[in-house]
Amino acid sequence: MLQYELDGGNNKHRAFQLPGSRPHYSPDRPGQVEHICLDLVLDIPKKSYHGTCTIQLVPVRSGIANLTLDAVSLDIQSVQVDGTSVGFDYDGEQVQIQLQKSTEVGKKIEIAIAYSNQNPQRGIYFISPETHYPNKPVQVWTQGEDEDSRYWFPCFDYPGQLATSEIRVQVPKPFVAISNGELLYAKDAGDDTIYHWKQQQVHPTYLMTLAVGDFAQIQDTWQDVGQDAQPTRDAQPTRDAQPTRDAQPTRDAQPTRDAQPTRDAQPTRDAQPRRIVPVTYYVEKGREEDARRSMGKTPRMIEFFSQKYGYPYPFPKYAQVCVDDFIFGGMENTSTTLLTDRCLLDQRAALDNRITENLVAHELAHQWFGDLVVIKHWSHAWIKEGMASYSEVIWTEQEYGADDAAYYRLSEARSYFSEDSSRYRRPLVTHIYREPIELYDRHLYEKGACVYHMMRAELGEELFWRAIHTFVQDNAHKTVETVDLLRAIEKATGRNLLFLFDQYVYRGGHPEYKVAYSWDADSKLAKVTVTQSQDEDLFDLKLPIAFGYTQQSAAEEQRSRGAEASAEPSPLPPCPPAPPPSSVPSLKTFTVRVHEREQSFYFPLEEKPQFVSFEVGNHYLKTVTLEYPLPELKAQLQCDPDPVSRIYAAEALAKKGGLEAVKALADALQNDPFWGVRVEVAKQLAEVKLDFAGSALVVGLNDESAYVRRAVAEALGDIKTPESYDALKQLVEKGDPSYYVEAAAVRSLGGLVTSATLKTMEEDVIDLLTDVLKQRAGWNEVVRIGALAGLSQIKTSPVALNLVVQTTSPGIPQALRLAAIRALGTISTGQTPNNVELILQQLQDLSKETFFLTQVAVVVALGQMETPKAIPILRSLADQTHDGRVRRIAEEAIPKVQQNSGSDLAVKQLREEFDQLKKENQELKSRLENLEAKSKQ
Ligand SMILES: [Zn+2]
Repeated sequence: MLQYELDGGNNKHRAFQLPGSRPHYSPDRPGQVEHICLDLVLDIPKKSYHGTCTIQLVPVRSGIANLTLDAVSLDIQSVQVDGTSVGFDYDGEQVQIQLQKSTEVGKKIEIAIAYSNQNPQRGIYFISPETHYPNKPVQVWTQGEDEDSRYWFPCFDYPGQLATSEIRVQVPKPFVAISNGELLYAKDAGDDTIYHWKQQQVHPTYLMTLAVGDFAQIQDTWQDVGQDAQPTRDAQPTRDAQPTRDAQPTRDAQPTRDAQPTRDAQPTRDAQPRRIVPVTYYVEKGREEDARRSMGKTPRMIEFFSQKYGYPYPFPKYAQVCVDDFIFGGMENTSTTLLTDRCLLDQRAALDNRITENLVAHELAHQWFGDLVVIKHWSHAWIKEGMASYSEVIWTEQEYGADDAAYYRLSEARSYFSEDSSRYRRPLVTHIYREPIELYDRHLYEKGACVYHMMRAELGEELFWRAIHTFVQDNAHKTVETVDLLRAIEKATGRNLLFLFDQYVYRGGHPEYKVAYSWDADSKLAKVTVTQSQDEDLFDLKLPIAFGYTQQSAAEEQRSRGAEASAEPSPLPPCPPAPPPSSVPSLKTFTVRVHEREQSFYFPLEEKPQFVSFEVGNHYLKTVTLEYPLPELKAQLQCDPDPVSRIYAAEALAKKGGLEAVKALADALQNDPFWGVRVEVAKQLAEVKLDFAGSALVVGLNDESAYVRRAVAEALGDIKTPESYDALKQLVEKGDPSYYVEAAAVRSLGGLVTSATLKTMEEDVIDLLTDVLKQRAGWNEVVRIGALAGLSQIKTSPVALNLVVQTTSPGIPQALRLAAIRALGTISTGQTPNNVELILQQLQDLSKETFFLTQVAVVVALGQMETPKAIPILRSLADQTHDGRVRRIAEEAIPKVQQNSGSDLAVKQLREEFDQLKKENQELKSRLENLEAKSKQ
């Protein structure tokens, strides 16, 4: 416990814990909740409902006279225990029930609470058309995680309590109601329909859900075919091969839940090899095609995860409901995931949007990690969020190959690095916070995913999945803490990974390696010096270093293969299979223990290697700065079979700068076989800022991959030359198959005209962006949002400001309006004091809107402003918001604004001058290099 506080307070990173943080523990349990039944009647026009919540509780001890349930802002009419009215006390947050008879251990009691709820602010959301948005659909949906179920029904609201549940709900025709588990019936009741859903497997309150709307239903299925029907399964250790499974009773063999609780039952595949599981997509009518396009891979994913996790999909159906105004991307309610309707792709968006596919995979993975195996306390939420995020990686690997998966993992690592360096550093497991929602950050998801991958690297392919199978099978329908994962690994593989968890889970941070290399030709020694440059704890890891040979005689290759074979077998998964076509290098690999601040390793080699690959496979979460000579970096960029290593080489080359480095990067932009490397190379070319880099980039606008074209269009925004301008303008006028490429181009154009050389084009660009704003409405407003971002770069222009302000008006499509609100912050920093006042006033007005996404946009805008007048607005938002996430980011924005507007302003001016000088210097250097290059011709 002490370690956590030291970690937050003793480093250069800001503390995760904000004032008011305290340790959180699961509450004492009066007993085991067995079953929760909600019986509700919805009055949708009045945004209200009434009904009964019935809870069956088996007391864990005798003599309990009072029960305390969580219930926030509900109207509680009466409480009965076993059919008899009892007294209760309600303070608006918890209801205290006085039992007439103290509990007897093991003797079940039934608590029935009659209640109603009007205009709820959290937990359950009523969506309906508004004056400015008359086409908004009528919908009702819930969001329980983390502790919001108490806002829509009384309950023991913490994840350690697992119970079966049912919801009977009366809704007006033609609305459909969807909830957890199986539909027992949908019964006609005059103008209404009564839907009765029952969830027969235990789950926590935060996963109970209800979604109501006039949805189109698209029916799909997943067939649990068992191991024999599918030959591909034989290649993998199947769950059926596990001896313990067959001995277990099957769920289906059990008569009813009341007679025998299913809590411990595990399904076996053999008993019912052809279970058909309905897979349903619910969307607003008219979006049926988008639904199939966006979620159609679900049955294949269910099959894939069933195999990978060693446990067939555990619930009787899987529904995905796309709802309006959802406040998360998705929520994995048991057997009934809710998704934001913004994830529905049209044909053009599907070209280069994998966000939706990954979202679908993520929420589905939770059906095992989170819903079947439940975390006991929020402090262990990384177990489920890490695996759900890692499942995006393994699905990518399955669907698009190892390179795509490696690159996806790098992007996850980077989003964690960014939070770690700019926000705070924290241990993955901590129970010290103000609200559990604060834990749902880039540590929990992306770092958590990287930890799972490191477990896979440590254990190797077979043992890792065996450990996952054991973890899921041993803990199905139960709650877990981090230690249960370690225990499962130990049980299944004999390996103790505590050393890894100590370094990456129980404390914050990651190694920041600097790697230098030199070759001593006389003694044929390669020297690799590894420095851990992080300020804090050193890491102690065994890492493979490889030397790459690209031009070898067959005999040499043979010899080197022999050497490799005799080396210690590596437990790491195989390297990505697709090496660049230019050459197929052979690698000579050595594994070394890296544990000191600085260590030099000497490797005797027969021949000088062409390149050095540090940490082959890049499995460990780390940052790397390569300090190799230019030829080795060039060779690595060209030949290292690992795309992530090629990316590191590209970064190092860009840092070196100079014409030769740019040429190597330009070559890679055209020739690297993997789009992810080309994307990264484009970014690096923008860093170099030589004229030649711009010309090299322009070529990339013709890349076959939309991802690369997008990266190039973004990068050109940093190369402020007429050539960039012409290329981007042409792209915008001509259009691109991808929304995102067009968006990047219009955004970059806005940035370009802020430079002195292109200032004269400002009016033209504003005209062009105005046209885009008028004409290119489209999927999720991606292109028009790009235009707004472009306008917000033209910070001194009152015309641009006016356009942005107009776009914040009510009635503007929501996504576009939110982008305009955010853009107010960016554009504010170049405006006159009068205009800044106007922006503040606008944001002040907008801050009164209660919708979560509007509040986030307002905070983002205010956080970028450079006036202390933004602070009181942030403070009052933090005080008044219902949402813990908004509260936290508003509080975090305050010191940022203080910095922006205070003494740091002078530093900022100096920095700008310095940047200007640096730029001029680069331009001179560039001209010089051009002259040199010409003189050599
Ligand atoms: Zn998740």
